[in-house]
Amino acid sequence: MVQNIPIVEFKNVTKLYPKMSKPAVDNINFKINKGEFCCLIGTSGSGKTTLMRMINRMNSVTKGKVLIKGKNVKEFNPVFLRRHIGYVIQSNGLMPHMTIRQNIALVPKLLKWPKKKIAVAVNKLIELAQLPKSYLDRYPNELSGGQQQRVGVIRALAANQNLILMDEPFGALDPITRESLQTLVKNLQSKLGKTIVFVTHDMDEALKLATKIVVLHGGHLIQVGSPDEILHYPKNKFVENLIGEKRLSEAKYETVKVKNVMLTDSVKINQTASLTTALAMMKEHRVDTLLVVDFENHFKGYISINELQKKYNQANKISEILLTKIPVLRPDEYLRDNFSRILSRAGQYIPVVDDNERLVGIVTRSSLVNVIYEKIWGDKTALIKKSEKEVK
Ligand code: ADP
Ligand code: MG
Repeated sequence: MVQNIPIVEFKNVTKLYPKMSKPAVDNINFKINKGEFCCLIGTSGSGKTTLMRMINRMNSVTKGKVLIKGKNVKEFNPVFLRRHIGYVIQSNGLMPHMTIRQNIALVPKLLKWPKKKIAVAVNKLIELAQLPKSYLDRYPNELSGGQQQRVGVIRALAANQNLILMDEPFGALDPITRESLQTLVKNLQSKLGKTIVFVTHDMDEALKLATKIVVLHGGHLIQVGSPDEILHYPKNKFVENLIGEKRLSEAKYETVKVKNVMLTDSVKINQTASLTTALAMMKEHRVDTLLVVDFENHFKGYISINELQKKYNQANKISEILLTKIPVLRPDEYLRDNFSRILSRAGQYIPVVDDNERLVGIVTRSSLVNVIYEKIWGDKTALIKKSEKEVK
């Protein structure tokens, strides 16, 4: 049972700063499990930092409880908490008058680790940061911003902390440096099995890093979910805006299933019908093929006008001219996985058959075109809206 206890749990947590009329965070409930990468996301002032700093008691809790492995943070010594929980902030927080080695060794020293153990840890960490060993004897201002932040990240791991808090740690870096640090953190987290709580206002960053996303707005918890859940089932307009129209339309397109685009009024004929009926049906509907089913609507194959005309005089039954070599789609298959199959049936449609082999519809080339157009035009209208806004 022990492993089921969350690493961090917020229980009805409210924070009211002095002289504030409204709580900075209001009645928040969620859990962070071992090994999760939890991103707190929201616009500026939504309460992200406040919430995070209650975990290591840098902020006090006004109402409710913050639990670490089931124990109220109030029962921990705050100094103990801060030494055992890694913390990375935007301005890397390195001591300017200490070398990189001394900076990394700071917390292990405070924890009174033996010198040898510290030396081993420092060497391993600088390697994890993908920096040359010679940098250990440099001072922070002799490193670039990105390199300093690399040190900031591994310093938070130096004392083998299993829980690490990061508050917009890469906000000040250029996009390329930022991306390489995101990769570093993600790799360290999955390789070392750390639990990370990461504050960001950038949805790209959250979607890239998180296994769990917590959306905050005005001190309220709006939605908790995996990146996939947030992307595909945004709870409301606010979350949609945070995700952005482009990503939403891409997500929509990515998840279109066969059943979402299939036509259900396909022209079909019962296998016991006569060839005369079949011919009449083709004429009436102006089609050159008919799908064939039995009385229970089980899909049997198709007949084509060519075969029908060729064998009209010799054949009596549909079964004699039935063609069975035809690809079928299942309703729950993703359209994106079947584009080429559908397009390769030049001018033809593909029947959709359910798990009981019943004919439920067809997908035509034009259903595909509609999806692709929606994606293209969806993006275009988003662009137009944006430029209109900019003109105003
Ligand atoms: P975020 O990190 O999401 O930008 P914060 O947690 O820093 O948001 O702030 C949430 C709200 O609490 C804001 O309205 C902010 O002005 C207020 N706040 C933050 N820190 C303090 C403080 N020390 N004293 C008073 N109000 C504060
Ligand atoms: Mg903040």
